[in-house]
Amino acid sequence: MSTIFSKIIQKEIPAKIVYEDDEVLAFEDISPQAPVHILIIPKKEIPTLNHLQAEDAVLMGKLFLVAQKIAKEQGFAEQGYRTVFNCNEDGGQTVDHIHLHLLAGRSLTWPPG
Ligand code: 5GP
Repeated sequence: MSTIFSKIIQKEIPAKIVYEDDEVLAFEDISPQAPVHILIIPKKEIPTLNHLQAEDAVLMGKLFLVAQKIAKEQGFAEQGYRTVFNCNEDGGQTVDHIHLHLLAGRSLTWPPG
């Protein structure tokens, strides 16, 4: 089922895009939880981590390479950052289109609440 992220991919609704290629889109989160909060998504519609298939392995790895690229470009790679996938209700997932959160710009607590 398509989500609001499909509309962002199709440019039907606006987003502050920071990276795009044929397979991946990265854009600023509308409700940032840190000074840097970027969502990195595959253009392929995969609802949750539970839906991943073996054929998605390279694509998922690519999401992390995009996170690394953004961290280097925006200058917070050495200071540090966090990448998170939320899954379903207890994981706090609210949009059923798999997305990697990239958070940076402040000290992040662990464990999460
Ligand atoms: P989740 O809670 O599913 O892990 O993360 C979904 C994220 O998508 C949230 O951090 C939320 O702020 C963000 N989000 C929801 N709707 C929109 C939108 O229309 N535009 C953007 N840029 N971010 C959105």
